[in-house]
Amino acid sequence: MTDNYKEITEQDDYIEQAGRIVRDRSIEAGRDMTYHVTTFGCQMNARDSEKLTGILEACGYVYEEEESLADFVIYNTCTIRDNADQKLYGHLGSLVNIKKRRSDMIIAVCGCLPQEKSAFEKIKNSYSFVDLIFGTHNLFDFPRLLVKVLTRENTKGKGHLVSEIWDGTDRIVEDIPVKRNYSFKSGVNIMFGCNNFCSYCIVPYVRGRERSRESADIISEIRSLAADGVVEVMLLGQNVNSYGKGLDENISFAQLLKQVEKIEGIKRIRFMTSHPKDLSDELIDVMASSEKICKHIHLPLQSGSTKLLRSMNRQYTKEQYIELALKIREKITDIAITTDLIIGYPGESEDDIEDTLDVIEKVRFDGAFTFIYSKRSGTPAASMPDQIPEEVAKKRFARVLDKVQQMSCEMAAKNEGRVLDVLVEDINRQDPGLVTGRLSNNLTVHFPGDPSLIGRIVPVKLTECKGFYYIGE
Ligand code: SF4
Repeated sequence: MTDNYKEITEQDDYIEQAGRIVRDRSIEAGRDMTYHVTTFGCQMNARDSEKLTGILEACGYVYEEEESLADFVIYNTCTIRDNADQKLYGHLGSLVNIKKRRSDMIIAVCGCLPQEKSAFEKIKNSYSFVDLIFGTHNLFDFPRLLVKVLTRENTKGKGHLVSEIWDGTDRIVEDIPVKRNYSFKSGVNIMFGCNNFCSYCIVPYVRGRERSRESADIISEIRSLAADGVVEVMLLGQNVNSYGKGLDENISFAQLLKQVEKIEGIKRIRFMTSHPKDLSDELIDVMASSEKICKHIHLPLQSGSTKLLRSMNRQYTKEQYIELALKIREKITDIAITTDLIIGYPGESEDDIEDTLDVIEKVRFDGAFTFIYSKRSGTPAASMPDQIPEEVAKKRFARVLDKVQQMSCEMAAKNEGRVLDVLVEDINRQDPGLVTGRLSNNLTVHFPGDPSLIGRIVPVKLTECKGFYYIGE
């Protein structure tokens, strides 16, 4: 019996047990038991939340849109920036009085934040009404933890808290139930964790060391997604370009992409995130010749200053980044390059900002997520001298944002008037006569249509560029 089979069989047993309890409670209450999952953070967290949702629904819980009305509320947290922590505390604060009135409501916190010891203690002590806390490494164990919280003797006061935080894991558990947010597109984890230890980043501490999934497991998951009507997959990992390291099989990320490309029914392939230091020529060539890999690469720069890049432990220089980005532009027609930028990193000077502006000008980014540096305790950058005062960082941020927005508007305007394929994702929220979809380059298009188009790829004329999105017909 393989470890994975044993684990899944055990978790299936717990799902059955939890299902019986949930059913009994529904009968007693004369209504369905409901859940609400709130997700903070990145695509990896969004994918984890689909697993949490899959497990809760397999146990008989039914989705409740209004967080405060649900019987089971779970927060899948992020800790990459301080405002993500604050968002969680805001949500928890808003439930204090509700929980006083409804002591049978179960509140759970999971994900990256409780992996940090100080955050775990804060949740436990300052929000003592929370019932369940677990981290990133034991998400697959959620069914067992659910049974534990549903069967505990005390629902408040001493002993009511169920909490399990693992320091790390080298395990990957396959076949966890998943409830997808979209019927036609899905994220697929190809690896977990990160080995890079960028000086500002908490991820390697809370998500552990890098572990790649076997390619056969990934391919079989994507085949069943395709059989279920999925046309677009997003391959997920903190550093997809180093996929395959540590596996017994000899496989690179580019080779994995080639295998995914062969899967019938899959029409679009995306991936996230690429570390510039590991992006190979092989990958650029595979992208250039592919019919299915989307014309978009997210390539975090973080800073245009070689001095700061060194301090950030990014392992490339300004010049190497520019060279790589221009090579990608030259070899892959119509590629959109987006990036992440950190402003206000310790030791940053006006010259460093000039360097960042220079890279933006030379690479001509199609979009950038620009952030003010957020100190994460436990990371090397948190204790560096020359932390930048907030008002200085804000002024620099405004300058960089201005440049980024000007550049991305110019890049987007180039497509005005063209007819390009759009994957229709939703009805437009503001105008139900319009549908909203995405181009291969990841930009959004709104155009007249009805719900029958959702999940289909259709040619659309981009009649008007509105800066970050298009109006089409
Ligand atoms: S590559 Fe760097 S920034 Fe990205 S997750 Fe790893 S440590 Fe964090």
